[in-house]
Amino acid sequence: MQSELIERDRKVNWHPYTQMKTARHIPIIRGEGAYIFDANGKRYIDAVSSWWVTLHGHAHPYIAKKVAEQLNTLEQVIFAGFTHPVAIELSERLLNLLPDNQEKVFYTDNGSTAVEVALKMCIQYGHNQGVRKNKILAFKNGYHGDTFGAMSVSGRGLWTAPFGELLFDVLFIDAPTKENLSGTKSFIEKHASEIACFIYEPLVQGAGGMLMHEADDLSELMKFCRSKGILLIQDEIFVGFGRTGKLFAANHLSAQADIMCFSKGLTGGTMPLGITTSSQKIYDAFYSNDKTKALFHGHSFTASPLACAAALASMDLLLQEETQQNIQRICKQHQQFVNTLVKHPKIKNVRQQGTIFALEWKIEEDTSYFSDMHDILYPFFLQRGILMRPLGNIIYLVPPYCISQQDLEYIYFCILDALETL
Ligand code: PMP
Repeated sequence: MQSELIERDRKVNWHPYTQMKTARHIPIIRGEGAYIFDANGKRYIDAVSSWWVTLHGHAHPYIAKKVAEQLNTLEQVIFAGFTHPVAIELSERLLNLLPDNQEKVFYTDNGSTAVEVALKMCIQYGHNQGVRKNKILAFKNGYHGDTFGAMSVSGRGLWTAPFGELLFDVLFIDAPTKENLSGTKSFIEKHASEIACFIYEPLVQGAGGMLMHEADDLSELMKFCRSKGILLIQDEIFVGFGRTGKLFAANHLSAQADIMCFSKGLTGGTMPLGITTSSQKIYDAFYSNDKTKALFHGHSFTASPLACAAALASMDLLLQEETQQNIQRICKQHQQFVNTLVKHPKIKNVRQQGTIFALEWKIEEDTSYFSDMHDILYPFFLQRGILMRPLGNIIYLVPPYCISQQDLEYIYFCILDALETL
């Protein structure tokens, strides 16, 4: 069956971020907990939570039950002119967990669109008040999605090159360090009157290579931007819902964003859903008797009841004592593994933030997403029953919280084996 599925897939499907000429796709027919199973029955540990989405493991029975109940009650309803109880409850419960300045929830259906909405909120926020500020501030090496707006505010590289001329102008700054903060502040000061907003991945820049910065440095930068009237968009799409060891990256920071974006782990990785939350100040700039001041954005599947039901179920699981203990256990295991690796001769850098672990394999060239190391490492781990997708020469782990201590130890053992033998 495996080879037949591969052949049928090759004839009809075009996969994301994939050079189809050289790629091979493994048919997965079942998932359970931290494992996925191919059509031959081979088991893989999903060490990257299937693109960082799966929080509680695959095919979780509690989420399945809640989604099935919703499917039998109300599967979908237009969210303009209508509302439904699951979206109301999800918004109430999410806002309760977020920093206290977050007051309103806007729904979409993936991470990129949550970012598009955040950008549009900031630009129209100025427009509605007769202020023209069109520049956006973002980190170099950032990643916020693949739609045109989200791509524009992401770091530029080979994957944005074909579209370069169509992307809007963005002011890029380095992620903060104690050393560069004062230079960055002077740069921002010079352009402050034109800058509508600053968008950033807090603490961990995921797709850019699991790059990490200090909470204190980011907080200082946020406070400075705020003092210059620049709105803050915090993209928690990757780091939200426990990934950093706390519920949100916001819980590490001493400054608050105006707008926050969520997706991925929001539904425990079961259904597509995006959320953009905002402060009262942002919302009030759209609240008017004038119809043209409404936020001009919406999708067919806005606030899908099925996805909202999945998000509520995932939140129930996330807040359970057992899950919180698992998160802390993963953090501790990663930390111990990092300590054993710091001086390894084949490692350029090893780092961790909560449940996110990353190591940079030393190579002749500079670290790169297109490094051939990926083509050596990816099959090495697959053969050993581990799904990992190195970003070039960067190996990283973002496991589901249900991963066992033993499976995580086995993954560390295989990483050491790779360092030893490759
Ligand atoms: N922001 C961040 C920080 C992300 O990591 C991603 C996805 N990797 C996105 C936005 C885009 O999300 P999506 O893939 O759901 O469009």
